Amino acid sequence: MTDKTPSIVWLRRDLRLADHPALCAALADGGPVIVVFIHDESVDRLGAAPKWRLGLSLASLERSLDERGSRLILRRGDALGELRALVTETGAGAVHWSRLYEPDAIARDKVVKAALREEGIKAQSHAGHLMFEPWTVETKTGGCYRVYSPMWRAVKDREVAAPIKAPAHIPAPDSWPTSDRLDDWRMGAGMVRGAEVCLPYQRIGEAAATERLHAFADGAIADYKDARNVPAVDATSNLSENLTYGEISPRQCWHAGQRALHQGATGAEHWLKELVWREFAYHLMYHTPHILTGNWRSDWDAFPWATDADHPEVIAWKQGRTGEPFVDAAMREMYVTGKMHNRARMIVASYLTKHLMTHWKIGLEWFADCLTDWDPASNAMGWQWVAGCGPDAAPYFRVFNPETQLEKFDPDGIYTRRWIAEGQSRPPASALAYFDAIPRSWGLDPKCPYPARLVDLARGRQRALNAYENRGF
Ligand code: FAD
Repeated sequence: MTDKTPSIVWLRRDLRLADHPALCAALADGGPVIVVFIHDESVDRLGAAPKWRLGLSLASLERSLDERGSRLILRRGDALGELRALVTETGAGAVHWSRLYEPDAIARDKVVKAALREEGIKAQSHAGHLMFEPWTVETKTGGCYRVYSPMWRAVKDREVAAPIKAPAHIPAPDSWPTSDRLDDWRMGAGMVRGAEVCLPYQRIGEAAATERLHAFADGAIADYKDARNVPAVDATSNLSENLTYGEISPRQCWHAGQRALHQGATGAEHWLKELVWREFAYHLMYHTPHILTGNWRSDWDAFPWATDADHPEVIAWKQGRTGEPFVDAAMREMYVTGKMHNRARMIVASYLTKHLMTHWKIGLEWFADCLTDWDPASNAMGWQWVAGCGPDAAPYFRVFNPETQLEKFDPDGIYTRRWIAEGQSRPPASALAYFDAIPRSWGLDPKCPYPARLVDLARGRQRALNAYENRGF
């Protein structure tokens, strides 16, 4: 390759410029760098909220690249076909990308790598989405960790390389290849009428993510251990959406957490542990990809889950009308903000899979449509963990009681009042926002009375326990 031979960086879920090994490798090739995002079928498959949020992230990255004298090239079609066309148009000698770990992405990337190499192009994948590559963390007997705590012990003292600074300048080619216009992709088309309501809750792009990380590491991280379970308090980092799209790297988070720990913020250790839960989910998805599609423990295959996604009880769950304030507040929080507090995720998932005995996949798919921080690995692991059929799962007989959970984690009703308008003489804007966010076809009105309880909690719990016992667990 000569000085003038361009290198391509193919972005997917690494929409940042700092701590980006693939971008660094392209810059190290020495020629101009062309940054491309391809709207292929993996983007078509995204749910409404994640697709919309991805569009916002791409728009933010476009601006950052402009500021560095570069551009974001947008192409639509089959990834290999588009990369080949770009190589031909630009004379590029190399294509770099950050690895992804879900089976479809691995299969696609293998084909791309082999085909480009066959054609004499340097095709290289790099780390970037994880701190520890899944094949580098193994148990003593081989294979990945299936239980979290030993994995934490195995990695907690490992050296994690320091994050790499963003380049000040990205050399441009003499002429730019053609690009689609982001607006023409209509990434928000599936958001019905909720996008405007959801927008203020998004923290979009690399600069905003970095600012949040520092603010969190200088402040709330200190009390994270205790406060992280209280959904009414802004006690967690709220960086999941940024990690999902790669607007910040896990290494940047890890180092910020370590710094806080060394400065005496004891809560930081718990936060570092959560970052490793994310790694754990990815390692499981890489080594046991069936976690995405079926019960991780096959002895659950005969369990009599209800599978009707349109059952009135399931619809009530989706719409936040179960008559359980904790469940309903959480489902509405997700609809308005695109996110949901972790404790609330556990409670709504337990209610669906245990009190309603409905298949976790129905919940997983609803989350995949509604969450702006939707992540394939964490979502699948979270659902299977709560349902009891996953790795390191909550024991099947642990049925979260939404009422006692409320007494414990929202004793003053701050969280429920924030999201449930019915029954309040002057509901806050957040609770009313839900009625602006939901599709009109749901026909809901804040002036209606709050729904009656869908299932008796004790009876629902007993029904689930009986079903477990009948299965011989
Ligand atoms: P913090 O508490 O600040 O934690 C820091 C980071 O650690 C998070 O941003 C996240 O990347 C990671 N993390 C924290 N908790 C977990 C966990 N339990 N599992 C894996 N990683 C974790 N997380 C997603 O990012 N996307 C999802 O689609 C998703 N779906 C979930 C579904 C269910 C049923 C459950 C129970 C959990 C799910 N989680 C998911 C995990 C967790 O709820 C969110 O990561 C967390 O609420 C994000 O808030 P935060 O950024 O403030 O996290």
